[in-house]
Amino acid sequence: MEIDVERLKEIVGEKNVRDNIADLYVYGSDSSVHEANPSVVVRPETIEEVQEIVRYANAELIPVIARGAGSGASGHTVPIDGGIVMDLKRINRILAIRPRDILCKVEPGVVWDDLNRALQPYGLWFPSAPESGRIATIGGAIANNGSGVRAIKYGTMRDYVLGMKVVLANGDLVTLGADTRAQASGYQLDRLIVGSEGTLGIIVEATLLLRHLPKFRAMGMAKFNKLEDAGETISDIVASEVTPSLLELVDDIAITALNKTLNMNLPQVEAIVVYECDGRLKEAVNYDMETIKEVCEKHNAFGIEMGSDAKEMERIYSGRKKLFAALSRYREGFVCTSLADDMAVPSSKIAECARKIHEIGERNHVVMNAYGHCGIGLLHTKILMEATRKEQWENARRAVEEVYDYVRSVGGTTSGEHGIAISKAPSWKKEKADSLQMMKAIKMALDPNNILNPHKLMDAPDDWVTATKLRYPVEL
Ligand SMILES: Cc1cc2nc3c(=O)[nH]c(=O)nc-3n(C[C@H](O)[C@H](O)[C@H](O)COP(=O)(O)OP(=O)(O)OC[C@H]3O[C@@H](n4cnc5c(N)ncnc54)[C@H](O)[C@@H]3O)c2cc1C
Repeated sequence: MEIDVERLKEIVGEKNVRDNIADLYVYGSDSSVHEANPSVVVRPETIEEVQEIVRYANAELIPVIARGAGSGASGHTVPIDGGIVMDLKRINRILAIRPRDILCKVEPGVVWDDLNRALQPYGLWFPSAPESGRIATIGGAIANNGSGVRAIKYGTMRDYVLGMKVVLANGDLVTLGADTRAQASGYQLDRLIVGSEGTLGIIVEATLLLRHLPKFRAMGMAKFNKLEDAGETISDIVASEVTPSLLELVDDIAITALNKTLNMNLPQVEAIVVYECDGRLKEAVNYDMETIKEVCEKHNAFGIEMGSDAKEMERIYSGRKKLFAALSRYREGFVCTSLADDMAVPSSKIAECARKIHEIGERNHVVMNAYGHCGIGLLHTKILMEATRKEQWENARRAVEEVYDYVRSVGGTTSGEHGIAISKAPSWKKEKADSLQMMKAIKMALDPNNILNPHKLMDAPDDWVTATKLRYPVEL
């Protein structure tokens, strides 16, 4: 593939085109296990520059991979065939905050937490921030349909995108959706872009619905000797009239990791459930917290702690907050991989799914744990393993397959949050077998030359292990 680097420099300026080996290496991976260097990195600043780059790439049949912060967990921005990685972080203005319409207009490179800092003086926020909100861009989060711990009450990105401007594969700019909450007729093309992982168009502006910042928050934590009791509690809370703003499970492997690496001194029980309620009235929030406490007690919870001042809440949440870091240091020589990391099951199946994950991990000689936003049926399953040993990858491959077979068998879904890209495509393709052709037809209609983030989603390779070079020194 011949890329005219001089042509790209004319479009975005010399300093915004990178093709030295160090930059290509940095842009060749995200937070997944995959790695493949791009041919060149471009950093446009305007919509017109995005259009020009895409027009050039389309004419020359060069892949274009849109990239925000590159925090995707499944190889989202890894350019399997090389090509142009388009870093959109310079297109990052907050264009409008309109409190009377409860909306804002932003460019794709705006970082989620920065947006919330800008909204705070208006008493507004953009909820459901991913845990990666310190770096994740709005463009990347829309393309992944991202969400976070508060999705149980506040929903996912799909619920907040009112409209957007998108550069199509031929370089045309289209405006999708409207500035209104009511949008009745026609194909919901804006929704189609949400979750499309950079395969249908480049988002260059988004209109987002906002929420009022809740005035009160309270948080609680309950311990359970039996995982099944925690599971029953979660199901009962989800089925009750109370909608918590956060409902998280932490399993025993996670507790071990927190105690071992961060000296957290948590009781070594089978499960901890962390919950939060928020709202306008302190009395209403407290009433909901008491209702959840009663449900926990009904299912043999003990050591229940609740608090509503900032320090207490920080303490209650600190274990859950530091979990990813703790798992990454679980055992000397182990790495924490996101191979099957965000499946969702019906909430009545949370405990069963967590048990299955443990059993499958043990049987296949890898450490697999289960934690996450159990209120929406979502479990994070990190696989902890020695990534330099070939047999560990074979074990992990078998474990991933078994977990996903189970998830699909109970009506669950491969990804509830982080998206599909490369690593999760084999299971997702099985899950969506009867609609893959529809998706391929849509892709063909919008991107006939297949230049936008090729080999992802339905076009991803069937074997995630050998699809790209792995980031670890191992021969498979
Ligand atoms: C520690 C950690 C915690 C995480 N926690 C969460 C979580 O709680 N919830 C969650 O949902 N995710 C989470 N993630 C995954 C990831 O951070 C999010 O999905 C995030 O929204 C991705 O944003 P990004 O800017 O990094 O996108 P990138 O990784 O750069 O890109 C993601 C996808 O979006 C596409 N894309 C990027 N920008 C555009 C654009 N402007 N137009 C079209 N396509 C585009 C890319 O091509 C790619 O397919 C986590 C990741 C890490 C490492």
